[in-house]
Amino acid sequence: MVRVAIAGAAGRMGRNLVQACALSEQIQLTQATDKSGHALIGSDAGVIAGIEPQNVLIAEVLEATEFDVLVDFTHPSVTTNHVDYCLQYNKKMVIGTTGCDAALEQKLRDAGDSIAIMYAPNMSVGVNLCLQLIATAARVLGDSVDIEIIEAHHRHKVDAPSGTAIKMGRVIADVLGRDLDSCAVYGREGQTGVRERKTIGFESIRAGDIVGEHTVLFADEGERIEITHKASSRMTFANGAIRACEWIQHRDKGLYGMPDVLGI
Ligand code: NAD
Repeated sequence: MVRVAIAGAAGRMGRNLVQACALSEQIQLTQATDKSGHALIGSDAGVIAGIEPQNVLIAEVLEATEFDVLVDFTHPSVTTNHVDYCLQYNKKMVIGTTGCDAALEQKLRDAGDSIAIMYAPNMSVGVNLCLQLIATAARVLGDSVDIEIIEAHHRHKVDAPSGTAIKMGRVIADVLGRDLDSCAVYGREGQTGVRERKTIGFESIRAGDIVGEHTVLFADEGERIEITHKASSRMTFANGAIRACEWIQHRDKGLYGMPDVLGI
């Protein structure tokens, strides 16, 4: 049994993660936390997730003796502190938090020298398969097409473009030998001029309760290819995270991604 702590257990992803833990035979939820002063501190994590009580009360602080893997779907500022904590107590991590800046990503790489971390801005199996399809399309179509990435999420999402959209852009830029920081164009307005072929465009939609949709468009004169992924439930991300917990228990150190977990 892998003993798992879920940070942000009262959040949207946290509740799905608690459900996914309850469905796994290899995972035992032993800790759940949320931010200090949250109204749901002291509540049973299972009840908050809409399932039977799990006998794990949502706490304000982690207890290092109580878990093996920390699952973090919170906020980059919180994740930073959790990395320090897991380094101190030699705990493994599964991180799904998005909006992590370059400094935090470097911190994750450095931490990977000491502990095992799986970090993925999108843990859905389908999205990770799409990343492979996108890489293939970019390889075949090269610089002969215009490439645009369009994503849509619920109105509560605080970062844009989504971590998944950025990841898709990075995959394409790597295949085409482009630097994403200099070729990305975020949203367009006003007198934009004609499109530069070697740019990669990003458009973000924020509306209602959309769980997460991504389309990568490869457009030539006369035809276009669209690779689309639509998530209809957060359980797809939660199930991926639980699969990562099962996988990472066998790793001592290193920074991994979902392709490592899935073996693709
Ligand atoms: P949310 O706001 O519903 O949940 C975040 C939770 O973290 C909240 O309950 C908040 O109170 C809690 N939190 C804040 N400070 C804390 C602390 N110090 N300790 C413990 N908990 C703390 O957000 P969400 O929709 O669940 O998304 C969370 C993150 O996961 C976002 O970055 C989102 O983009 C990302 N996400 C990733 C994936 C993926 O597959 N990797 C999928 C969906 C969402």
